[in-house]
Amino acid sequence: MAEQREFICVTCPVGCSIEALVEGQELIEMRGQACGRGEHFVQEELTDPRRMLTTTVRVRGGTLPLVPVRSSAPLPQHLLMEVARALRQVELEAPVQEHQVVLENVFDTQVDIVTSRPLNAA
Ligand code: SF4
Repeated sequence: MAEQREFICVTCPVGCSIEALVEGQELIEMRGQACGRGEHFVQEELTDPRRMLTTTVRVRGGTLPLVPVRSSAPLPQHLLMEVARALRQVELEAPVQEHQVVLENVFDTQVDIVTSRPLNAA
């Protein structure tokens, strides 16, 4: 049975509010998207929702105790908590380079977790 659903497209900073008529994983019609990428976003939300992950990991011997990290591409939404848990076990050694790989091909997703900035040794 078809249902009306609302989505906020997070593909770009505009953040269009999209109303869609869907049946299961099938998109029947939609409105509110300012560009064609909105349809791709809704299709992906219905079949394989993904999000960027940003968090921090611990650093030993650095000028700060934590360094920000992010996923190199959006991760499947159902894996976000597991990846965050895995990152809590990680401790890097200073100095840390920007874009240093923290976890490679995390959970076989072809996505790496990388640092967002460098961090000097204390
Ligand atoms: S529909 Fe297009 S303009 Fe609107 S948020 Fe998505 S990418 Fe940006």
